[in-house]
Amino acid sequence: MSPKAPDAVVMEIVEAGRFLSARGWVPATSGNFSRRIDAGTIAITVSGADKGELRHDQVTTISLHAPLPAGVSAETPVHVVLYQRNPDVGAVLHTHSVAATVVSLAHHGKASLPLAGYELVKGMRGYQSHEEILYLPLFENTQDMNGLARDIGDRMTAAPGCCGFLLAGHGLYAWGATMREARRHIEALEFLLACELERGRYRP
Ligand SMILES: [Zn+2]
Repeated sequence: MSPKAPDAVVMEIVEAGRFLSARGWVPATSGNFSRRIDAGTIAITVSGADKGELRHDQVTTISLHAPLPAGVSAETPVHVVLYQRNPDVGAVLHTHSVAATVVSLAHHGKASLPLAGYELVKGMRGYQSHEEILYLPLFENTQDMNGLARDIGDRMTAAPGCCGFLLAGHGLYAWGATMREARRHIEALEFLLACELERGRYRP
């Protein structure tokens, strides 16, 4: 059995779940959230849990340096590789919103989705102006999460400043040094993706 995660870490994950669920971004028990405990350990949500009503026993601990135990969420390898490749990653959030799903599917096959002209790119670490274009990496969806994790690890290592990516027809990942920063990043990206969706419909 995995060691219990510290209460403060679990509370951050529970509160993130309430926040993201209230916005409709993790329907039908989808999504998963994690938080670094130390250099070699993370806390992560188990599969099948309602992410808006997480209980403490629905957050488990995982070693970053050992084979994954049976029964963890299928997307755990994606979280693990993000922490392994970048020691600055402190929290990872994954949503299945309508905007992330529809917009990513419309652009599938491309390497990235350009987000241009938006003031709120400044919600992302390192962006200072609406004149900067945010190229959000885009990956094809797959059920081979170990293979996907390797691809993501390779591309994210080449782009160390990046704080998120899309899975086509699936959803959005975003991370930060702290849970607070990860929440700001996923909220900014969800806002930008919602704008892209609206722009596709809007006909003045
Ligand atoms: Zn997912």
